[in-house]
Amino acid sequence: MANDYLRRTAITRLEVTDEQRDLLEETISEWKRGCQLATDMAWGTCNAKSDVQPLAYDTVREQTDLGSQHAILATHQAAQAITGYLERRSKGKKASKPTFTAPTVKYDTRTMTLFGDDTVSLSTTENRVRCELALPDADDGYQRQYLDSDEWSVTESTLTARDDDYFLHIGFRRHKTDTERNTAEDGTVLGVDLGIENLAVTSTASFFSGRELSHNLREFEKVRAGLQQTGTRSAHRTLEQSSGRELRYVRDVLHRASNAIVTEALRFECDVIAFEDLTHIRDQTGASWGHKWAFRTLYEQVAYKAEAEGIAVKQVGSAYTSKRCAECGFTADENRPTRNDFRCVKCESEANADYNAAKNIGMRYVRRGQQSSRRTGDSQLALKSGTVTPSGDFTAHPEGFDAEFMDKPHPQSTEGA
Ligand SMILES: [Zn+2]
Repeated sequence: MANDYLRRTAITRLEVTDEQRDLLEETISEWKRGCQLATDMAWGTCNAKSDVQPLAYDTVREQTDLGSQHAILATHQAAQAITGYLERRSKGKKASKPTFTAPTVKYDTRTMTLFGDDTVSLSTTENRVRCELALPDADDGYQRQYLDSDEWSVTESTLTARDDDYFLHIGFRRHKTDTERNTAEDGTVLGVDLGIENLAVTSTASFFSGRELSHNLREFEKVRAGLQQTGTRSAHRTLEQSSGRELRYVRDVLHRASNAIVTEALRFECDVIAFEDLTHIRDQTGASWGHKWAFRTLYEQVAYKAEAEGIAVKQVGSAYTSKRCAECGFTADENRPTRNDFRCVKCESEANADYNAAKNIGMRYVRRGQQSSRRTGDSQLALKSGTVTPSGDFTAHPEGFDAEFMDKPHPQSTEGA
């Protein structure tokens, strides 16, 4: 079963000649056409690999330059895409017929061979090409722990074009140990930072601006203050009506933000949404009473909506989440030169301060209880480009999500002071 394996991805650029570049580009282009052809044929008819393959294989072979194994993989990709569509729709989520626009092509062990000399051979629309993996110079790249290991074996991989370069996302898997299999603590965590400038920022780099809420809250507070001064009976009635309308605007913003957070958690297949301790947010941001109420309401809305989707919502301790570098763990006041910017004085990585905090909040939940010797969980933090475990093991998202290579953490990442 798929769940009996741990999966990791090692990303590396390929050294390619001009001739190889042309072949890989052509292969990607034919792959996209093949996936689309198979999807068009199976659409409304079937979605199991075992059904789509016999239905569409001959057509894909005839109408594209894909080799036989790549034609099979294209029918499987179509089956998977249609299944994804059906699952989304059955949960009442927005979904449309899959289209294949991402510059990627899938490989399996029959279309790709990895050699011990750090080269790889890849099937194309014509002959195979053999390219060097552009790995880090020293032997300490995180890729080595998979490439050089007897435990990890190569599984499905993805080639991606990005600017003028080609990146191979090499999939590895190994059997889980008994301990790993029995843990109930596996899960993917979405970190969320709340604030005034940005109402919410997720560890997957989704930003929800706080401007509209701040504006509506100011109006709400103004209406209340003005009408409370006049103090007449009719003013009280107007207060209820006016502040009722202003309050609806505020609630509407909060509903959109909470929907966006839950949608993001679903999109990245998260099991837990982690916020920082709400009492701390209020102290730290110097928020008005309106904002304090808004944060609490937003949290309650997310908790309510997430529960309906089977996602847990948690709060974590908030110490240092805004001063800790999510990339290397170094914690210092100097990391935060301005309100919006984060710049680590140790590893020099830069980020939006709220985005950095969102990653720290999520990672704090991932690491919970890690010091205890009984902890055996395999939780991971959701990032825009993939997921990462506390020990720095990174798994890239399958195609479909934008890759953000800056998210790639240092493998030696450690908790700061
Ligand atoms: Zn750092």
